Amino acid sequence: MKADVPSPRQISDYSLTRADFDLDQGSLNLEQQKVQDEMDFLGGIGRSFKIMNDYQVEDPFAPESPLVINIGCLTGTAYMTGLRTYFTAYSPLKRTLKDAPMAGWSTMSGSFGRKFHSTGLDDLVLLGRAPRPSILVLRQGSNGPEISLDEAPEAMIGARTPDKFKWLNEQYNQTSSRKFHAHFATIGPAGENWEKVWYACILGSTQEQLMSGEDKFRFAGRLGMGSVLGSKNILAVVAHAEKDDSPKGDARLKSINQEIGRGDQSKGYRHPINRDGGGGTGRLERVLDINGVLPVKNFAPEGENLAEPVHIETIRDSKDYVIIDKQCFGCQISCHQDVYAASPEGKDPDVKKARKEAGPYVGRYEFEPMELTGPNLCILDPQSNLKLARLTDDLGFDSISVGVTLGYLMDRNERGGEPVAGGLRFGDAKGAARVMEDIAYGREPLFGKGVKKISEEIGGSAYAMHSKGVEHSAYLPQTNPGYPFATAGGHMSMRTFLLYINDPQCQPESVDYWVEQITNQGWKMINNNLHGGCLFTLGTPQQTVEAISSVTGVEFSSSQLLDATYKAHLLGFALEQKQGATVEDYTMADEVFVGEAKGDLPRVHFMTKDLYEGVREKVLEKFTRDARESGYLS
Ligand code: SF4
Repeated sequence: MKADVPSPRQISDYSLTRADFDLDQGSLNLEQQKVQDEMDFLGGIGRSFKIMNDYQVEDPFAPESPLVINIGCLTGTAYMTGLRTYFTAYSPLKRTLKDAPMAGWSTMSGSFGRKFHSTGLDDLVLLGRAPRPSILVLRQGSNGPEISLDEAPEAMIGARTPDKFKWLNEQYNQTSSRKFHAHFATIGPAGENWEKVWYACILGSTQEQLMSGEDKFRFAGRLGMGSVLGSKNILAVVAHAEKDDSPKGDARLKSINQEIGRGDQSKGYRHPINRDGGGGTGRLERVLDINGVLPVKNFAPEGENLAEPVHIETIRDSKDYVIIDKQCFGCQISCHQDVYAASPEGKDPDVKKARKEAGPYVGRYEFEPMELTGPNLCILDPQSNLKLARLTDDLGFDSISVGVTLGYLMDRNERGGEPVAGGLRFGDAKGAARVMEDIAYGREPLFGKGVKKISEEIGGSAYAMHSKGVEHSAYLPQTNPGYPFATAGGHMSMRTFLLYINDPQCQPESVDYWVEQITNQGWKMINNNLHGGCLFTLGTPQQTVEAISSVTGVEFSSSQLLDATYKAHLLGFALEQKQGATVEDYTMADEVFVGEAKGDLPRVHFMTKDLYEGVREKVLEKFTRDARESGYLS
């Protein structure tokens, strides 16, 4: 985003650079567009949903279906965590009951976004399909952004993600002189087999990864954005900028950044030795487990404390492992909890020494990947759990969707009948790895399409854990009637998933409680999907708008931020309706309701069908009315 005047004061003082790149022809159309409203100004899905609204898409993989790569107004600035890149498209996974694809997005941190920003781009719209497997190169040119296609070499085709990153780093950076001007977004074999895999992710590089050579990626995981990129015949996107353009902000930014990095708001995401942190996202596993609501055995925990061997606390305290916190560029939260083997000489009781002497990198402990390839599959051996979670990254899967798919296949086999997936059963880590490889390389074409499609073909929709085709994240649907109203996966776009255990005022049996949480609160979390800051800052709207004002000079208010966020949510909802979503599309698997196989758990049994349908009626009524008033629905 560029200021059109020396001292910008209002959003209309800014313009955006939009690039439409035709991959068939290799042709570029660059345009400067005046910022029209708050959604344009903030960026991310505020703008990309508007672009989606200009297209009628029946096939998410058709060359004429757009894939938008863009950033927010804080991406690439000195705002701590201002690193996010957004990928928006009609999703192969998120589909109506009549099979129409619905729009969605996925987002990642890492350093790709800040380099993208420095190339001078704001929105990149990819159309068409490259004639051969290619690498899309975005460069900071002397007269603005330059875009070109390089042919992908044999070394890239079919390669796992660590090998792809290694090749890209050697090709586009000067590794021997430690100059890393390029950062990368890439897909794995899963994304290359897009026709057979609808839940491939996009991985982004981090500075630490390029310098250490270890697998320290970030992920735009959800909704199959890696499959869409694969369908465009793009194996990787390179963002290359020799000079970092990083707006510093005014004096206010220093204290905001200190608060984000060191204050209470982000404490839960920090390592215990980082100012008394809570331990990262992984801490949720124990929190849910002691409350008897941790997904186990395809979302059906039969009690409490079922997964202690793979809690992050157990792994951190064990003699075999050391957990070291790492970070994206410049972020003091350092939420990445990376697991290393302890020194072969034995683990020193002094945490700092143990970190220094640690052996090789084993894998990352993040809640969703570890939970859904661990306890939910009844895999409770730490090494197997870590290996399986790491395999999802190396093959380029959304770890949530592939984990839930494996859980569904295991559940199906446990129920008897004709076995599928080689008879895969709960607890079988080796079998899970085998099926995952088969899916990634296109040898199991049905299983790569997610639990909605699989269950439509072979039955079992009553225990296929998804809403609108998007597999549930690692929170029980039995505790969360908000899942179906999330526009891009339950834990990324509708914050109702932890209320059952975290909200002391929670009234689980009250329709009005849930309607209030979904329609007036839950969507607020997607503000991070506009402006480019990370979800884990847990910043208040006031803090965020101060940062925006500091960086841009535009005095922005909390109500402007929240209005634009709600509009983005409503536009996302309207885009679902435009594709023909009906009341029946907003649902969850039958077995999660009271009286059904997974609906009466020892600690949860409030989600009756009547309660859910009461919530749904009121939520849809409100979102429909508000979307009409905003002009998004007729
Ligand atoms: S909180 Fe974590 S994911 Fe977000 S920017 Fe910091 S290190 Fe990266």
